[in-house]
Parts: sequence; structure tokens; C-alpha cells
Amino acid sequence: MCETILEIHLPNLRHNYHYLRKRLAPDTKLLAVVKAFGYGSDAEVVAQCLSDCGVDYFGVAYVQEGIALRKAGITQPILVLHPQEPNLQSLIEYKLTPGLYSQRILEAFIDALKQHETEMYPVHIKFNTGLNRLGFQPDETERLLDLLEENKKWISLNGVYSHLAASDDLKEDSFTKAQLNKFDVIADTIKAVYPNTLFHVLNTSGVLNYPQAQYNMVRTGISLYGYGNTPEVDIQLKPIITLKTVISQLHTLEEGASLGYNRNFVATTKTRTATLPLGHADGIGRIYGNGNGFVWIHGKKAPILGNVCMDMIMVDVTNIECYEGDEVIVIGPNASAEALANHAGTISYEFITGLSQRIQRKVID
Ligand SMILES: *Cc1c(COP(=O)(O)O)cnc(C)c1O
Repeated sequence: MCETILEIHLPNLRHNYHYLRKRLAPDTKLLAVVKAFGYGSDAEVVAQCLSDCGVDYFGVAYVQEGIALRKAGITQPILVLHPQEPNLQSLIEYKLTPGLYSQRILEAFIDALKQHETEMYPVHIKFNTGLNRLGFQPDETERLLDLLEENKKWISLNGVYSHLAASDDLKEDSFTKAQLNKFDVIADTIKAVYPNTLFHVLNTSGVLNYPQAQYNMVRTGISLYGYGNTPEVDIQLKPIITLKTVISQLHTLEEGASLGYNRNFVATTKTRTATLPLGHADGIGRIYGNGNGFVWIHGKKAPILGNVCMDMIMVDVTNIECYEGDEVIVIGPNASAEALANHAGTISYEFITGLSQRIQRKVID
């Protein structure tokens, strides 16, 4: 008998890792981004597998995510992209690497090191080259170099990075190139003083579209999980997760019968529906209701009817021969998360990272 299960396919993860490695220069380091529970899968399992593959670095958004990796025995450097002041002591305790994005957080970090009596701590510095989200401004480079010199007893510069705003959108090519040019100027200035620094600016789509800007490290997330942001790359990659569920019950609605909360679906003809144990508390957002989302049963598409409930969805199986207990595929190798997300007006990143911790994970190796 089935239930709702999120399978994590490690052979696919290894395939995606090796595919990406082949697209990089041999000496470029690869930082695997495993934030948000490994894009909704299982960060510890993914990190352990990539560690065995020889990945150089890990990246997470927050300190707690880095601590979870350390507790799971991960020994590679872990870059925390968005550390917050209250967590700096634990960041140091767990030997995580902070991405310092402002003078405020840099000074707070130096204070934390002094309290901890820890010297020469490796840090990365984040620059804002146009995303306008986080980072020192390019014209702060000289000021930053002074700060690093003044505090060299406490911090040691290990990396410098920036993030692209539209690496997946070739219509924004000139904007991206302007960002890369700004980063190049910063990198040259810093390299003159700190020649052994890691420089990194590319995410997945950056690696695919701007390989000339790989410097000595890249940060990839979504492609490791099997999504390439373009159909040409998608066919080279293998999604690592399969979300399966089951038909709990079948119902037949006569013409005029309504379905679900607020009666949002009313049958205009005799309709057969299947109820599935998966709802918005599992990450199937309300946006997927009322025909915006669908699942696959015996290879056929079954649209979601009516509103998504907390723990259930109902799908149209009028034209699908199926029985209670039959397997249902939500996403998988032949059921693209990208297609499902796009159909509802969102992106694969949102769908997969939204899959809740309530869904049981099953590692397949
Ligand atoms: C999430 C994130 C990445 C990974 O991006 P992908 O598109 O998933 O490869 C890289 N860098 C930063 C700063 C990020 O926040």
C-alpha cells in the first residue's frame, strides 16, 4: 500500500553533480547550495552524498542550517549567505563561514570573535553589483580593504562574491554583463592585496550562460536538484525528487453536485474524483487549486478540482481508469516540477522548497 512519500534519488544527484563539474574548468571549485532543506529534499542526505562526490564547499542561507550540517558530520567549509547578528556566536562555535554583507554585520562579527577569543577567522565578503538585495557597494572596496587591514588579527579574507539578478534571462544580458564587469573591477582590486582569495559570482544559470565568469568558484543549487531553468539543460539533468501519493477514496459527482470547501467546483456533468492525502500543509499551495495544478495517475493528467484543503486535494479522474489505493505521481522524472509550477504561475524553486517536513522522505540509492 502506498502513502505520500518524497523519494530522494541519490544516483540522480550524483549524475547532476558530475554534469555540472564537466561544464566547469578543472580547477574551479564547486559550492553546493543546500539551503531550505536542500531545496525541499533533505539537506543532510544531499550534503553527505555530495561530500562523497568530492564537492568543495557548501552554502546555506542561515546559521541554523549550517549547524544542522555540522551535526550531521559535514566537515567541508560551509558558507552562510545571510547570517544574522544574534547567531554569530554559534556560527563561530560550529566553524561556519560568514558571508559578510555590510559594515554593520562585519563589525558585529569582529566583536563576536573578540568575545570568543578567536583569531584569523576565515570570512567571505558579499558585494552588491545590481541585485540591490545584500552587499557592500562597489565604491566601498577601498574602505573595506582598510577595515580588513585594521582587523587582520581577527578576520582573514577567504572569499569575495556577488549575486546576479537575471542570469537565467538572456534578454537582460547587458545588465548581467554590467554586473560581471563591476565584479571584475572589485576582484582585481582585492586580488592585488589578497591573491589567494576565492571569487564567486555564478549560480546555476550563471554557470550555464556565463561560464567565462566562473573565477575560482561557483555556487550551484537548483541544477544539483535536477532543474536547469531551460528545456535544453533540463533534458541533461535528472530531478532528484519524486513526490508520490495514493488514491484514498473515489467519488462520483452527479451533475450539479459540488466539491470541497466553499463549493468552488460544481460538476456540469457526471464527474469522477479521487481524494489524495496531500494538501496545502504539505506544500501544495492554494494556487494549485481550481485547475491550476495537476497530478499524474497511470500516466494521465488529473487536474486538481476545487480548493486545495490543508490535508487533501481532489482530482478529476473521469477519464482515467483507476482504483482506490492506486499510485499517484505529483512530480518525478516524467512529471516535471517546472511544468507544474509554471502552469500555476510560479517557478520550480518555490514548489520544491515548499514541500513540507510532514511528508516522509525516503532515500533511494
Ligand atoms: C540560492 C542562492 C544560490 C543558488 O542559486 P541557484 O539558482 O539555485 O543555482 C547562489 N547564490 C546565492 C547568493 C543564493 O542565494
